[in-house]
Amino acid sequence: PNIPLFTQIFRHAETQPKQKPAIIDVKAGTSHSYCHLVSDIIELRKRLLKNAGTSIKDLKEEKVAFLCPNGYDYVVSQWSVWSAGGIAVPLCITHPPSELLYILKDSQSSIIITHSDFQEKINDIAHEAGIKKVIVVCDKDQKYSQYDGTNFNPPTLTPTDISRRAMIIYTSGTTGKPKGVVTTHASITAQVKSLVDAWRWNDKDKILHVLPLHHLHGIVNALTCGLYAGATVEMMPKFDAAAVWNRWMKPDNDLSLFMAVPTIYSKLIKHYKENIPKEIQPLATQSCSQFRLMVSGSSSLPTPIRNSWKEISGGVVLLERYGMSEIGMALSHEYEIEKRYEGCVGVPLPGVQVRLISEDGKDITNLVEQPGELNVKGPNVFKEYLNRPEATKKEFTEDGWFKTGDVAMITAREKVFKILGRKSVDIIKSGSYKLSALEIEKELLSHPDIQEISIVGIEDQEWGQKVGAIVVLKNQESKLDLKQLREFAKDKLAHYKLPTLLKVINELPKNAMGKANKKELVKLFVD
Ligand code: ATP
Ligand code: MG
Repeated sequence: PNIPLFTQIFRHAETQPKQKPAIIDVKAGTSHSYCHLVSDIIELRKRLLKNAGTSIKDLKEEKVAFLCPNGYDYVVSQWSVWSAGGIAVPLCITHPPSELLYILKDSQSSIIITHSDFQEKINDIAHEAGIKKVIVVCDKDQKYSQYDGTNFNPPTLTPTDISRRAMIIYTSGTTGKPKGVVTTHASITAQVKSLVDAWRWNDKDKILHVLPLHHLHGIVNALTCGLYAGATVEMMPKFDAAAVWNRWMKPDNDLSLFMAVPTIYSKLIKHYKENIPKEIQPLATQSCSQFRLMVSGSSSLPTPIRNSWKEISGGVVLLERYGMSEIGMALSHEYEIEKRYEGCVGVPLPGVQVRLISEDGKDITNLVEQPGELNVKGPNVFKEYLNRPEATKKEFTEDGWFKTGDVAMITAREKVFKILGRKSVDIIKSGSYKLSALEIEKELLSHPDIQEISIVGIEDQEWGQKVGAIVVLKNQESKLDLKQLREFAKDKLAHYKLPTLLKVINELPKNAMGKANKKELVKLFVD
């Protein structure tokens, strides 16, 4: 029972059919069985240990960073670091050099694994970060192991202690400098088991993976859950709306799962409406009926996206879930379609304890329509922020609950959780009211001219904070002023929730996970 879940793939290598792919690498055009994957992991593990020094058998929680394209090399790298006893520090190919340098230095990584395509880029940065070893794992025609489809030798590895540190993931940096979140094998194991159970992952599943691989959504929810379940993970190098629709519409579509952030669904909808010819659209719609589950998360799912998706997919109701780097997934819609309530994120996932704490410190979890800070406890919760003992201490209560910084409430009707937003940027204190930016965004997004919106609190002498709206219009030619926006919203929102400031811009600046940094956006209103 106390076995780290990453070792499950060694079992799959012996029990899953030899022809069945564990990973399909779309860019490379290759397919890799569990036996193949395991043989390659063992080979790279050997090389890692050899590079660490003669007669070293265990990296003993040494930090190993890796920069690989989204595909097979990424998977081999991560699992080989785990099998060698190291801590995995995934880097992102879209990170600018300054960001890579920050993560390498902050994580104190001592080894980097990379692909020949990035060797030059990484060599300079590694030098600056003081890293001595750069291991180039893969070249275009180079292979890891000699595996030829038949000669599989099951590896014998000494068991890894499940309480060991496994991974450092950097937060999105939505509210400040990204923090290194340290998780153990035990917490990743708990996170994965909980999702596999709730979302009914099984070895018949096939997921199309389009997410960045430096956040939990891509690493844990989509990739690690899939490999734990013995499923097939088909990896695209990056998200591309046309490529995704084309893949779905192929006659041999046997995909069963898809996971994405709201921005991705929004781009898929736009592509469907603007680029798929009318006569092909029914085929595109039909291709969605193949999926048993489509998930949305990482930020709040806007109602217009949820509704449009239902319409163009021929009835697929997106399953929304809530989580963060520090805790994995905590809340999720239930699997049953009729329980995927709009604007809500469902119930606690198996094994995860959740409570709501009012501003005066009371547990209000059994009250409805009362906002409170979400606290989370359970084996899924992370160990610490790397090198930030004060920050770690500050975010936990004395009795061991993690304070998420997100405000939520339980709805009166369905009795499920609804996220109101981050205490620091989404809860706007205006006059005597506390407003949820997420709620205002959801309503205003139904305006026919608005493509995207971000609601922020702007400091104000009289009101404390004023409601500021930053808007991207669907059509650059259309016009929107504050008066029109307020007029549109006055039947939908209470008067004190209506924006009193408006900025129309061409594009919302977003990070790789499709999130805007509100602390930066606020500056748009400072003259
Ligand atoms: P940083 O901590 O560096 O400011 P971040 O919190 O955005 O960045 P992540 O850990 O990747 O980094 O994101 C977790 C946050 O995303 C949650 O705390 C929550 O605010 C938001 N979030 C995730 N899922 C949802 C959801 N379904 N609805 C609303 N918010 C969500
Ligand atoms: Mg955070």
